[in-house]
Amino acid sequence: MTDMGNSPASRDIAYVMHPYSNLEKHKETGPLILDHAEGVWVVDDNGKRYIEGMAGLWCASLGYGEQRLIDAATKQLKQLPYAHLFASRSHNPAIDLAEKLVAMSPGMAQVFFANSGSEATDTVVKTAWFYNNALGRPNKKKIIARTKGYHGVTVAAASMTGLPYNHIDFDLPIANIMHTSCPHHYRFGQPGEGEEEFASRMADDLEKMILEEGPDTVAAFIAEPVMGAGGVIVPPRTYFEKIQAVLNKYDVLLVADEVICGFGRTGKMFGCEQFGIKPDIMTVAKALSSAYLPISAMMVNQKVADVVAKNSGKIGTFGHGYTYSGHPVSAAVALETLKIYEERDILGHVNAVAPHLQDGLRKLTDHPLVGEVRGLGLIAAVELVANKETRENFDPKLAVAPTLVNKALEHGVILRAMMGDAIAFSPPLVITGDELDMMVDGFAKALDETLAWLKSEGCW
Ligand code: PMP
Repeated sequence: MTDMGNSPASRDIAYVMHPYSNLEKHKETGPLILDHAEGVWVVDDNGKRYIEGMAGLWCASLGYGEQRLIDAATKQLKQLPYAHLFASRSHNPAIDLAEKLVAMSPGMAQVFFANSGSEATDTVVKTAWFYNNALGRPNKKKIIARTKGYHGVTVAAASMTGLPYNHIDFDLPIANIMHTSCPHHYRFGQPGEGEEEFASRMADDLEKMILEEGPDTVAAFIAEPVMGAGGVIVPPRTYFEKIQAVLNKYDVLLVADEVICGFGRTGKMFGCEQFGIKPDIMTVAKALSSAYLPISAMMVNQKVADVVAKNSGKIGTFGHGYTYSGHPVSAAVALETLKIYEERDILGHVNAVAPHLQDGLRKLTDHPLVGEVRGLGLIAAVELVANKETRENFDPKLAVAPTLVNKALEHGVILRAMMGDAIAFSPPLVITGDELDMMVDGFAKALDETLAWLKSEGCW
C-alpha cells in the first residue's frame, strides 16, 4: 500500500502487532478495517458490507447488535462492574452462570472461570497435574492431544495444539505433551480402509502411545469433538466410543474442548452429545457470551472436583485463578446469551437452516478444485486439491486457499483459509437460510474465479 499518510491503515501498520498474521506482508497489504455491524453483516471503513461467514473467530453466535446483551452488560456495569472470586468471595452473575452451565452440561459438576479458550485449556493441564499429585500419582502427568487439534496459544495450550505454526520457533511443545493421530479419514485413511476400521486404527494408535509412554505416566487426553482450526475435521461415528474405551482402561482423564463446538454449533448443545462423549473435564468459551465480552470456563465432573477440593484443603488453597475469573459483566452477558439460546430455540434454528450450508456446499463436490466437503450443523469446510484422484494438495507457496478467501471477500463473504487449503465456514448461529444461500453463492463464484486464476497462472 502506498501513500497512506496518517490514515488508520498506516497507523495500523506502524503500531499494531497483529496476532496470526504475516507481519512482513502486512506492511504491504495493510489491514481490513471493520467499522460497524448488524445481524450477520459487518461493514468496513469504506462502507462495503460482508456476511461474517466465520462469526469472527467462530464466536459471534448471536450476530451483532443484540440489544439484550448490550442491556445485560450495561446493567451489570452500573451495579457491580468488578468483583473477583478469590479467597471465597463471590457474586451473583458468577453463581447464576455456573449453576446454569452445570445444568446444561453433559455431567459436569463445577465451573472454573477464565477469560479465553487458552486460559481454560491451560487450566485443564494444571488441574490434571494437581489431580494426580493429590491422588499420589506424581508420574501420571503426560497429556495426549492430537495432530491438527487446536487448544490455544499459551505455553501449555500451544503445546497441545497440533499445528506447525504454533510450535515453529516458539520452542514448543513443552515436555510431556504429545500428539496422537488425527481422525481425518479422507486425508489419513489407507486405501480400501472403511471409516470404522479407520476409527479402530486411531484408537489402537492411542493405546500404543499410552503403552509406550507407560499408562502410569499419562494423565489426560484432550480432543475437540469436531476439530475446528485444524480444518473442521468430523471424526468417524464410532471414533470417540473406541477412544473412550482405551482411556477408561488406563485411567486417563478425557477432556472435551468445546470452545468451538459448544452451544449449538454442531446442531446439539455440545459436541459431546453428537458423539456420545462422556468427559471428565470440558472447556467452553466463544459462544458462551456470543463473543460480546471475553469469558471462558473449565468444567469438571464430581470425581475431579472432589479430589481437587480435598487437596486444596490439605495444601491450604487451589493456587490458580485469574484477576478476571468470572468477571461479573462477562458473566452477566454469558448468562443472558444462554437464556436467549433457550428462549429462541437456537438448536431448532441451527438444525432448520443447516441444510442450506451443508447441502449447498456438497453441491460443489464435483467442482474440479473440490476434494472434500465436510461439516455438520453450522460448521463446515471445503478442502481444495490439486488432483481429485490422488487428493494431492497444492503447493502451499501458491496460497490457493488464501487467494480464494480474498476473492470471496470481493463478493462480500468473509471466510477463513486454513492449512491444507481448507476453507472454513462458521457463520453466526442466527443466520437465515437466505443469508446462507448468499454465502454459499459468493463462495461458489470465488471458487470458479480461483480456477480461472490458476489456469491463467499456468498452474492448472
Ligand atoms: N480451543 C479451541 C477448540 C479453539 O478453537 C480455540 C480458539 N480458536 C481455543 C481453544 C483457544 O481460545 P482463545 O483463542 O480464546 O485463547
